[in-house]
Amino acid sequence: MKITQVICQVLRVGDTVAKTASCQDAVIVRVRTDDGLEGVGEADSMPEVVKAVIDSPFSNNVACGLRKLLIGENPLETERLWWKMHQGSVYYGRTSVVITAMAAIDMALWDLKGKYLQQPIHRLLGGKHHARIKAYASILFGRDGAQTAEIGRRWIDAGYRAVKFGWEPMGRDERLDIDLVRGARRGLGPDADLLIDAGCVWDARTALQRAHAFAESRIGWLEEPLRQADVDGYAWLRDRSPVPIAAGEGECGRESFRPLIDRKALDIYQVDISRCGFTDAAYIRARVEESAARLVNHCYTSPLTVAASLHWLSTCRDAFIFEDCVEDVPLRHELTHEKIQAVDGWMTVPDGPGLGVTIDEGFVKKYLVAESGRDAASARAAG
Ligand SMILES: [Mg+2]
Repeated sequence: MKITQVICQVLRVGDTVAKTASCQDAVIVRVRTDDGLEGVGEADSMPEVVKAVIDSPFSNNVACGLRKLLIGENPLETERLWWKMHQGSVYYGRTSVVITAMAAIDMALWDLKGKYLQQPIHRLLGGKHHARIKAYASILFGRDGAQTAEIGRRWIDAGYRAVKFGWEPMGRDERLDIDLVRGARRGLGPDADLLIDAGCVWDARTALQRAHAFAESRIGWLEEPLRQADVDGYAWLRDRSPVPIAAGEGECGRESFRPLIDRKALDIYQVDISRCGFTDAAYIRARVEESAARLVNHCYTSPLTVAASLHWLSTCRDAFIFEDCVEDVPLRHELTHEKIQAVDGWMTVPDGPGLGVTIDEGFVKKYLVAESGRDAASARAAG
């Protein structure tokens, strides 16, 4: 079996809104073989830049577009292909968007491997410990405490027993910060889990003050209080904070996570499969589990990454909660035929071959803004 096509598609649904929500567009990768099999994956990144990383030609042995490195290869050799992509792009890659492009391809390769072997990805990763995982509704803050309370009530009424609020306007001033968190707790009532995502807004000392102030609202974790690159700040804060510190969603692959893990900088590591791929997420899982910290998924994109995250997180021994983005956008609900969202506050791990989801081709056709990698014959057949 050989890889014959690496198709890259950018989807954009209507006008994008100025808010911190990456589920308004998508970049999808489809790896096809001479056996007629297809695996699909996605990256949570800048779609057009991911596409350029895949489409670029050969420049030299350490600067090559990813498609060129994959055509003719055996798609089952996921670990070797990860390394081949890494080394073949090392002069312009190693971090950030190139790793996310590799992650989308890796997700597609694992989907393809699962379909070829007729097994769900969680089994290929070593087996799931959990058939279902408690979900938290993941949403943005309201403009103040009162509106945040209303949002919280809405998701509790929808059956969730945990809600996370994030990003703006947190960080504007102390009074508003505390008002937002108190409002969130009011809206959720005393029993539900409340998680707070600050959105990288403070220095470590201010973050410690906020952690003490928020502790009265019994928050389950304080997420990304500091800049993503501030490893020293995270290590300092984690040693002193009265509440658990979470971060990691911006990290792309194993080398990006390594300093955080080596420094024991976090209580909770948030791994996004659309930025790490299954291959590097397996390394991160092993390292974090041996350090006795906790693992969760990060996911704010389409059902492809939701499914991928469920497969991966179910293989983590101590998985305790799953990020379920509840943004009301078509991409979140309509890209796949299967709807993967919490029911009564719980996510069920898919058991079909590969990712266990199928793309709605009508949806793709409707919102496609750019495509590359389909050979001329199949493009003609697809019309
Ligand atoms: Mg976050």
